[in-house]
Amino acid sequence: MTLRTRITLLTLGLLFVLQLLIGGSVYGTLQFILYENLRRELVEASQTAQRLIREQGSLEGLPFTVYGQALWVPFPNPTASDILQGAAIPIAKSLALDGASLTLSEKALQEVLRLGGIYTETTLLRRDGAQVPLRLRAERIETEIAGIPQGPQLVILMVGRSTEGIRSTLADFARTYAATALLVLVFGGFLAFRLVRQTLEPLEWVAKKAEQMSAKPERLPELMGNNEVASLVKSLNRMLARLEAAWETQGRFLADASHELRTPITAILGHINYLLRRTQVSEQQRESLEIIKREAERMQKLVGDLLELSKTGGGWKVELGAVHLQTVLNEIQEEYSKSFEGQIEIEAPEDLWVLGDAERLHQVLANLVSNAIKAHARRVRLVVRDLDERVVLRVEDDGDGIPKEHLPHLFERFYRVDKARDRERGGSGLGLAIVRSIVEAHGGSVWVESEPGRGSVFSVSLRRARAPQTQLA
Ligand code: ADP
Repeated sequence: MTLRTRITLLTLGLLFVLQLLIGGSVYGTLQFILYENLRRELVEASQTAQRLIREQGSLEGLPFTVYGQALWVPFPNPTASDILQGAAIPIAKSLALDGASLTLSEKALQEVLRLGGIYTETTLLRRDGAQVPLRLRAERIETEIAGIPQGPQLVILMVGRSTEGIRSTLADFARTYAATALLVLVFGGFLAFRLVRQTLEPLEWVAKKAEQMSAKPERLPELMGNNEVASLVKSLNRMLARLEAAWETQGRFLADASHELRTPITAILGHINYLLRRTQVSEQQRESLEIIKREAERMQKLVGDLLELSKTGGGWKVELGAVHLQTVLNEIQEEYSKSFEGQIEIEAPEDLWVLGDAERLHQVLANLVSNAIKAHARRVRLVVRDLDERVVLRVEDDGDGIPKEHLPHLFERFYRVDKARDRERGGSGLGLAIVRSIVEAHGGSVWVESEPGRGSVFSVSLRRARAPQTQLA
């Protein structure tokens, strides 16, 4: 999982938990306030009901939103089951009840008798069949009843109000809050993603620049500002500067050493040639001299390759200009057709120019074509594909091919697929390393596809150039 996704998901999770907490506490508070108001209203309604029983012996004066009912218990110390079995006489009902009755469970009745008063939830079944959820205050009171002269009587008084309004308010709130929270979550997720992307962009830029860096360490462009990424780039640059210095020292050493070796090798070869051509030598001596000559020539190529590599790896610069690809390809074809028994074919658009150094591009192609020939190719095709911004040049052969495990190392210095056989053929293992450094100095890339027994394809991607304006006399 990328860092971007992880931070976005974390933010979303946090936002979700936060919203859940806020929603939960607001819901809880709202519910508490609404039920607290209802409780106060029920207390008031109960007081009104008590007054009405005392003064009128009925509950018809209660507001129409209050459901009220009074039961007279005409003997002392009743039990809940006495009352449920009809020992209590209903003496008054509010108009809201409209003939229906309020009922209490046995357990609720027991509590009323024991505690003196409780709040409970119940459902009223109206005469029209509708069910009304109620919050009920049930009390046991001693009061005078109008019309009954025997003094204070035991009365079970129930007053209730519908909780439908509260329930629908709470449900409305929950629905609205959930929809808003969802919107906030979607919007927050989008914002977090954008913000994280914006924050990580400079880091990705640093990574991309480091990726694009060729084999030679180069310093990254410094960033404006005083943030963490700018100081990361500064630290990276300090490290790269040290690497660059080490790289240059190594390059210089390589250049100096190979340059110094060239002179003695040339002298050795000169003397061997002199001995072979101008002096009388025995057959055995000739054989030895031939071996020394072959080895000296191999050493000469190796030293030459090393020198090339030190040039491209060190401060050596390619001189980029518009190069006509067809011309370079034709030169290569002509050069190799003489010694090569197979065929070299060209498939390229006539008027295509690339940004490059003609001599170095020639060297790249020469290396690739001679490798193909060394790999017993019968047919080598030089194919050019025009991809608008870039041009891909493919050297395709039907030679031995390369086993898969060697492909990732092929462009490394001194890497040979079959060490003994390749040394025999006079290879230094530096050819493809040189190819890669030249191509990278051009701002391009090189890659290989190959299969043993079927051949290989080496592709070079280069920048396209515009044809130079022809000078009119
Ligand atoms: P050298 O200078 O010795 O030719 P290179 O770096 O050019 O070395 O090539 C490295 C290895 O890759 C060689 O040992 C060779 O076996 C293998 N190779 C390169 N090109 C081809 C090809 N077209 N077909 C098969 N093998 C190849």
